[in-house]
Amino acid sequence: MKKTSILSLVLLLVAGALLPQVFQNPYYLHLIVVIGIYAILLFGMDILVGYTGEVSLGHAGLFAVGAYSCGIAATSLGWPVYAAIPLAIGVTAIFGGLLAFPALKVTGPYLAMVTLAFSTIIQILTNEMEFLTQGPQGLQVLKPEIFGSRLTAVEFYYVVFVALIAALVVVSRILSSHIGRAFEALRGSPIAADCMGVNVYRYKVLAFVLSAAFAGLAGALFSYSEEYIAPNSFGFELNVLFLLALILGGKKSRIGAVVGAAVVVMLPNWLSDLATVRTLTIGIAILTLAAVVYSLVKSKISSKYGIAAVAVAAAVVWAVFRIEDVTEHRLTIFGLMMLGVIYYLPMGVVGLIKKLTPAAKAHSTSAAGASAPALEAFLGGQSAAKHGPVLQARGVVMQFGGLKALNGIDLDIERRTIHGLIGPNGSGKSTMMNVITGIYRATEGTVQFSGKAIQDSSPSKIALSGVSRTFQNVQLFGEMSVLENVLVAFNHSFVSRLPSVALALPGYRAEEGAAREKAWSILRFIGLDHLGHEEARNLPYGKQRILEIGRALALNPALLLLDEPAAGLTAPDIEDLIRIVQKIRDRGVTIVLIEHHMDMVMRTCDRVTVFDFGQKIAEGLPLDVQNDPRVVEAYLGVKPEEETAEAATPDGEANSFVPGGAKHA
Ligand code: ADP
Ligand code: MG
Repeated sequence: MKKTSILSLVLLLVAGALLPQVFQNPYYLHLIVVIGIYAILLFGMDILVGYTGEVSLGHAGLFAVGAYSCGIAATSLGWPVYAAIPLAIGVTAIFGGLLAFPALKVTGPYLAMVTLAFSTIIQILTNEMEFLTQGPQGLQVLKPEIFGSRLTAVEFYYVVFVALIAALVVVSRILSSHIGRAFEALRGSPIAADCMGVNVYRYKVLAFVLSAAFAGLAGALFSYSEEYIAPNSFGFELNVLFLLALILGGKKSRIGAVVGAAVVVMLPNWLSDLATVRTLTIGIAILTLAAVVYSLVKSKISSKYGIAAVAVAAAVVWAVFRIEDVTEHRLTIFGLMMLGVIYYLPMGVVGLIKKLTPAAKAHSTSAAGASAPALEAFLGGQSAAKHGPVLQARGVVMQFGGLKALNGIDLDIERRTIHGLIGPNGSGKSTMMNVITGIYRATEGTVQFSGKAIQDSSPSKIALSGVSRTFQNVQLFGEMSVLENVLVAFNHSFVSRLPSVALALPGYRAEEGAAREKAWSILRFIGLDHLGHEEARNLPYGKQRILEIGRALALNPALLLLDEPAAGLTAPDIEDLIRIVQKIRDRGVTIVLIEHHMDMVMRTCDRVTVFDFGQKIAEGLPLDVQNDPRVVEAYLGVKPEEETAEAATPDGEANSFVPGGAKHA
């Protein structure tokens, strides 16, 4: 662990231990307990919303499942606390797993709807299943007994505090591990994650299960803390509140979760006093007015915008003075806050503070890179000492509606060669690559890799068997660092599961260390080690393409598929690229290169296959293919004899392959 995080943990422990002395008023102590409980739930919700990017409006439902499981176990079954809480965690995790299934089909607003429906169903069930939950009447739960005596409010505070710290440590460890990186990769690009051997289904389900487990723990503690739970406590409003807390505090941040929890717990208190609300509103309105006047004077905004802002502020003030009881309008206020936060504070409070106080980047990239093993140590091992074609496709047809993007393709890729795949745009090159890597399932035909049929395998299985790729449209994990992008593809090198990660066992730590060293050596190999800690999306385009190749290497592929790696690159970048591609081939990796830059194809490829309209129209040595009349026709859209004699001569090299030719316009 880093020094700073140890220091903050110690500070947190001291502060937490002293809190009950500072807030002796039981009401405040109770509020603090609820903040802690919400924060635990938000840690889990952040896994889904912040890291995997799945919007959930179902966490109030999961929270209810946790609370009721624990409440029923503690009352009807008379279970002790140390059995009731794990039961609640387990039951809620199972519900989380169920909730994951729709998420495998739908995302975005649809998933939000599904999760909201889930939460509503749970509320209805808790109302209806009176034999279990006592229905609307609610369940009475007493504070837990430990060693035969019932806990006081202060003692229970310490229970929640310990749970909060444990949850904090566990969630931080998970999120900084290969599991957390896989979650983040899902949001960055699910397709790329799959093609890097990260099974999207598995990790989505895991994210839901984990997220639910934290909601279960929070719910269980909530039932003890409130000593009374009823269906009404877990309604729609709570879902909105949780989402507001998460976004307001700041996604992908544990401090953000605590800040967000504190705000939404205190909010109803602030809102309950009309006078405070009115004063606050006037204050905000005056600030808005000042900001508008200032911006108008500096002409930073248009007068229309200024008038609109003032009008909105005036309307809010008017509304606040019209209403008699603020609590009635709580949902409206939450909604407005949510809108405001999403528009003006998308990174939340913590994100804003981070932005205002840019931390010094004290990364020692070179030191980390220096100890890295040579790339040879792990690259090229898979493909050694075998003969015959590494990839064999027979009669591949790929039909999209009425269009046959591939129409009976046979393809043999020999080991340790660079095999060019060229053809006009729309001729089916990328489709072929998608069929090979399992993104598309071929309508007909077979694909064999190293003698095994792979046409029915999943992308992640194919990737793990040794087929790696890049994408025509760069598919990096944009918000992750350059190093982390490569580390995602090292996911396969981890055998440690969740428990070893949560406990930070030595075996897991050794794996993480080894993966990092290898990732650094890949970055050195592709010349990006000085940018290791930069966010991938901040890289220049050419470097992003190179990084994609580096990431693909982490799978230790026997076959590497590159889809137009030189597209959009400057001339010096292309030279770098050619060097890198040749070095990779020299390590024993077979490469399929889709490319429009004929110069690169001619210089690097051992063989070339030409596609046109989903069919193979030529194949052979680069020079032979280049002079094949059918190829010239495909590229220029005219028969060679129709051209001027000059263009058709063999030394008119540049003329016969022009990516910008008639068909490409
Ligand atoms: P290339 O990579 O050679 O430029 P593609 O393989 O991307 O060409 O496309 C070949 C043809 O298949 C194009 O006509 C394209 O529109 C079509 N195509 C590719 N993917 C899909 C898809 N998912 N759905 C429908 N049509 C597709
Ligand atoms: Mg393409």
